[in-house]
Amino acid sequence: MASKDQKAHQKQLKDEYLRAQQAASASRMPLDAEQLQQLLEHVDAAVLAAGCDHGLRATEAWAHAHRIDVERLREGLEEYGGFCDCEVVMNVYVEDVFTARRQQAPGTRR
Ligand SMILES: [Zn+2]
Repeated sequence: MASKDQKAHQKQLKDEYLRAQQAASASRMPLDAEQLQQLLEHVDAAVLAAGCDHGLRATEAWAHAHRIDVERLREGLEEYGGFCDCEVVMNVYVEDVFTARRQQAPGTRR
């Protein structure tokens, strides 16, 4: 009977799977954490000032200004539910995108 070991092993496999998934998502984001933070601040200000046009106008303007590949950025943001400027602000969090790289202990998130 190795059921206890087996359970621990399954949990380990699951943890590794989740980590790999997060790492894969993070790797799709062509920005580092600091750039993503800047993007979110830019888009947040743009949406507050002009509203959302149900596209990624502010996001794409920022990407062009910072020589970021717009297509890759769009795919990276869609991964987190950011299909238009206001959704980027609402759904994309730097912490979520980069948690896999910077392991945080549970309970330390803001
Ligand atoms: Zn929107």
